[in-house]
Amino acid sequence: MGLADFTHKTCRAGSHVLRAAWLLLLIAISPVLASVCHAEDASRIATGYKMAGDATKMRIVMSFDREPDLKWFLLRGPNRLVVDLQNTKFAIDAKDLKARGLVKGVRLGDLGDGVSRLILTGKGPFAVDKLDILKDDTGAGYRIAIDISAASEREFDEALANQALTTGSTVSTEKGGRVGTGPVSNPGHRFTIVIDPGHGGVDGGAEGLNGTIEKNVTLAFATELRDKLAAVGNYDVFMTRDTDEFLRLDDRVRIARQHEADLLISIHADTISVKGIRGATVYTVSDKASDPEAQALADRENLSDQFAGMVIKNDSKEVTDILIDLIRRETHSFSMSFAHTLVGQLSTSVGLINNPQRSAGFKVLKAPDVPSVLVELGYLSNAKDEAQLLDADWRGKAAQSITNAVALFASARTGTATGG
Ligand code: ZN
Repeated sequence: MGLADFTHKTCRAGSHVLRAAWLLLLIAISPVLASVCHAEDASRIATGYKMAGDATKMRIVMSFDREPDLKWFLLRGPNRLVVDLQNTKFAIDAKDLKARGLVKGVRLGDLGDGVSRLILTGKGPFAVDKLDILKDDTGAGYRIAIDISAASEREFDEALANQALTTGSTVSTEKGGRVGTGPVSNPGHRFTIVIDPGHGGVDGGAEGLNGTIEKNVTLAFATELRDKLAAVGNYDVFMTRDTDEFLRLDDRVRIARQHEADLLISIHADTISVKGIRGATVYTVSDKASDPEAQALADRENLSDQFAGMVIKNDSKEVTDILIDLIRRETHSFSMSFAHTLVGQLSTSVGLINNPQRSAGFKVLKAPDVPSVLVELGYLSNAKDEAQLLDADWRGKAAQSITNAVALFASARTGTATGG
């Protein structure tokens, strides 16, 4: 019907001529005719390339003047998605290929034999959630739309193994591939905690009355908590950063997914305008903040990404996938349950503010499948809290309380898992 068919017909007509030529002319001439036909078919053009998203989720769109003919597959070391396109020329602005979010690099090349290749290199392992060939509404062209999201090495390897059975497929990967990671679907998996020391590098976070910098307090505390949790012996424990480095919020979430975390604990120690207020608070994520202070805090924490000089609009309202929605709700109830346990444990060892379990729209807590809490250890705007945060004994007590809460949560989770 379209231009593509017309080209095929032209080309087929060409091959009739070619066959006649085989009869009439010397064999040496035929490659010339064949390459003429080939050149006609090569007139498909990739006219545009766009990427959007962040380190947890990306959409990649490539536009074409006619229907693309493609095969795709994964490669590891590093994690790559390869799309081989038949007879395609690239007319793409180089600046649109600039790395961003989950995609660390984009390369285009000509493999010869009428095959052109697009290679996307991930910042870490990822899953191909969808790869569709779509016709433009105007009917004028086509595009391929690829959705990828951060995943673990195990999940990437699983997809690699599956592709051996379905090589060359243009059908999307199993959408439910990631569902139920953790103890149930992965027998070798130990309960995994990712500790996230807030801020770092150019983003110092809050500053205390006596000059204490939040990013240093969070790293010192997180390190102590990591050692205490590791000493239990039943868990795998990771940190999003263990040096003074800047990390975007979506990168922190990506790291949690990469480790298939069963729990993400983000550590902070902020300031508040009322100097008298002190004590610890445990936050979970919610669209609607529990109170104006929680909202203000989430707004401040979410500003962290501006230190990277880029603000990405990441609208997750488009989530219509029922499965994702169910997972999100389940994750949220686990987050709430851990927050409740944590408040109970902390109350026996450290001071808490009024209504210590609160919620707001923290970006770092938004992984749909990782129960996540943000702990404000205390306020650097309060002299007593600031002194405590620097006190090794206090830190030890607080870290022990969090370790106890993790133990209660982990045994309930793994108990549920083995009970079916
Ligand atoms: Zn903070």
